[in-house]
Amino acid sequence: MNKVRIPIALQQAVMRCLREKLQLARQHFSVEFPEPKVVYQQRGTTAGTAWLQAWEIRLNPVLLMENQQPFIDEVVPHELAHLLVFRQFGRVPPHGREWRQMMESVLRVPASRTHQFEIASVQSKTFPYLCRCQQHQLTVRRHNRVLRGESEYRCRQCGEKLRFIAIENL
Ligand SMILES: [Zn+2]
Ligand SMILES: [Zn+2]
Repeated sequence: MNKVRIPIALQQAVMRCLREKLQLARQHFSVEFPEPKVVYQQRGTTAGTAWLQAWEIRLNPVLLMENQQPFIDEVVPHELAHLLVFRQFGRVPPHGREWRQMMESVLRVPASRTHQFEIASVQSKTFPYLCRCQQHQLTVRRHNRVLRGESEYRCRQCGEKLRFIAIENL
């Protein structure tokens, strides 16, 4: 599996959001929280994870590239809030009262908007197919049927059977 390269501008946008939210927490608690390490290694359909002991945030590079700033605005504060809650309150329920207050009162983002991208990405994921005349997008469901040999799909214009184009780099 090839690694997804995150453009520098996008990495900078991640750090800008992280530092801005971290600054709000520092002011609120009068604590000099260290800056968490950010890595782009989260796999699968999970948007991001917070590694409490390591003080590290892992972001999903594919979902970041697909969703850009909306992903940053939602996922970075979400994971940062997990780290801050752990530092201030220890081991409490992951999305409990302390976390919601951290999101809304300290980081000033709505706590209800969580995990939108995991769902959105899985639902909207399509796979590119080709016929003689154009490119088509098949849903996950149809794509899986093709892979299992249960169905084949034809272009309505040219009548040719659609062929899957494998994508590298994802
Ligand atoms: Zn969470
Ligand atoms: Zn066609």
